Amino acid sequence: MRETKLRIRLFGDPVLRKKTKPATNVNQAHRDILSEMTRLMYAASGGIGLAASQVGLNESMIVVDIGSGLYKLINPKIVRQEGKQIMEEGCLSIPGICIKVKRAKKVLVKAQDEFAKPVTIEARDLLARVLQHEVDHLKGRLILDHASFFEKLKIRRKLAELKKRSRNEGLSESKTKSCQLQL
Ligand code: ZN
Repeated sequence: MRETKLRIRLFGDPVLRKKTKPATNVNQAHRDILSEMTRLMYAASGGIGLAASQVGLNESMIVVDIGSGLYKLINPKIVRQEGKQIMEEGCLSIPGICIKVKRAKKVLVKAQDEFAKPVTIEARDLLARVLQHEVDHLKGRLILDHASFFEKLKIRRKLAELKKRSRNEGLSESKTKSCQLQL
């Protein structure tokens, strides 16, 4: 595999707010990126999902593994959703911040695999949640957008610190509490 230099971008990096474009002409370069994203996801403590925008790329790709198998998905779309469930989520791009997010309990996702073959995934509970979190990333949406007014007040200072960190990559990582789910 060719050497790629991807790293997880932190809150404050404008790329996290950009909407990705559909990936076209899926080829080896996409597969290399998906492999590298998978490596980064597994390397992150507790990481169970990662979206292309989190590594600074603007094509729609995600990787997900909640422990029951790895999904490498291109152009994922949620085509149906059902039910509601609230759970606390963290984000690999917003370390140390946990937000209660209401999401659909069940989703139907249509995507392509790394060889551009169409795939359909029926997911519920945790897998459904992770897929929704990652598809949010592809639209430039973050868990912060799901935060209540009071949650936003509570995390204001932490966010300011994170912004500083994302500007000064050289700074050593401060100890942060991690959430139950890291995506
Ligand atoms: Zn995330």
